[in-house]
Amino acid sequence: MKGRVIKAGAAGIREAAAAIRRGGVVAFPTETVYGLGADGLNPEACARIFEIKGRPRFDPLILHESSAARARKLFSRVPAAAERLMKRFWPGPLTLVLPRAALVPDIVTAGLGTVAVRVPAGKHALALIRAAGRPVAAPSANRFGRLSPTTAAHVRKQLGDGPDLILDGGRARIGVESTIIAFEKGRPVLLRPGGLPLEEIEETAGPVLRAAAGGKRPQAPGCLKRHYAPLARLKIIAPGEKNSGDPAAAYLAFSRRPCGKFRAVKVLSRAGDLREAAASLFGALHALERTGARLIYVEKVPPHGLGRAIMDRLKRAAA
Ligand code: AMP
Ligand code: MG
Repeated sequence: MKGRVIKAGAAGIREAAAAIRRGGVVAFPTETVYGLGADGLNPEACARIFEIKGRPRFDPLILHESSAARARKLFSRVPAAAERLMKRFWPGPLTLVLPRAALVPDIVTAGLGTVAVRVPAGKHALALIRAAGRPVAAPSANRFGRLSPTTAAHVRKQLGDGPDLILDGGRARIGVESTIIAFEKGRPVLLRPGGLPLEEIEETAGPVLRAAAGGKRPQAPGCLKRHYAPLARLKIIAPGEKNSGDPAAAYLAFSRRPCGKFRAVKVLSRAGDLREAAASLFGALHALERTGARLIYVEKVPPHGLGRAIMDRLKRAAA
C-alpha cells in the first residue's frame, strides 16, 4: 500500500532504502524539514518527485549524501572556502552549490552546470542514505509552493499516498530548510537563508555575498517570491502592533501572547529563542491553517541568526 507511514527504526529504514534502490520515492525526516527522496542517480525516480509534489516545472534538486568524502564525488571542483565550510558544518543544515560531476543527471540540476549537495545531520536521514548506498535527491516533502512539513503527519496530509512510504522520525529538530551557499570566483554567495545562521558561515568563509534578486542566477523554487504559503492570507506585523483582538483571525506571536481575542494563537518561543522559534514555525502555521482562519497575523522576529530564515519564509508566505 502506498503512502504508508512507518517508524524510522532499523526495519523502517531498511524498507525505505530498498524502495529507493528500486526507483521508489520515500518521504523521510531530516533535521531541517521532511524530504521527498529518490535515487539521485536515477532520472525517472527523480521525475516522480516532481509529479508527486505537483511542481509545475523541473527545478534543481538537492542531493543528500552520508559523508563529505562521498559528497565531494558529486562536484568537479571545490574551492578552498567550500572545503572549509564542509569540514566545519557537515553533517548539518548547509547546502553547497558547486560545479557538477559528470555522473549527476540533468534532471537533478535542471540542466545547470552546478549541483546542490548537503550532508544532513539527522540520524534517520544519514542511516537511510547509507543504506540506500547512493545520493538521495530530496526537496521538501510538501505540495509545490505550500508549507514545508516538519512531521510525518504534515507529509501524509499534503501528499497522501503519493510517496511509496513515509518514514516517521518525529518532529524535525531545526524546522526550516538548509542555508544554500553558491560560489563565485571562489567566494561564497547566499542563495537562501536557512537553518545555519549566516554569522556562523562568515566566521569560517569570510564575507558572504547576497544573491542579487532577479539576477542571472537560476530561480530556485525556495527563492520564488510566493512560497511556503498556508491557505490563509498572512499579514506581517510588529509585536504589539495589533492592540485589539480579531475573533475571525489567527495569530502567530514570537514570544508573548497578544492582547484581545483571536480564533487561535500560537507562540513560537516563550523564551524568545530564535532556534526554538524556527523549530516551531511550520508546525504552528500548519496548526493555524487547520483552524480554517482566512487571515493569520504573524509577528516579525529579530532579523539575526535564525531570525533571517524565519523572516524569509514569512515574507514569501505572505507575498
Ligand atoms: P527544496 O529542496 O524544496 O528546499 O529546494 C531546494 C533549493 O535548492 C531550491 O531552491 C533549488 O532551486 C536550489 N538549488 C538546487 N540546485 C541548485 C543549483 N544548481 N543552483 C542554484 N540553486 C539550486
Ligand atoms: Mg521546498
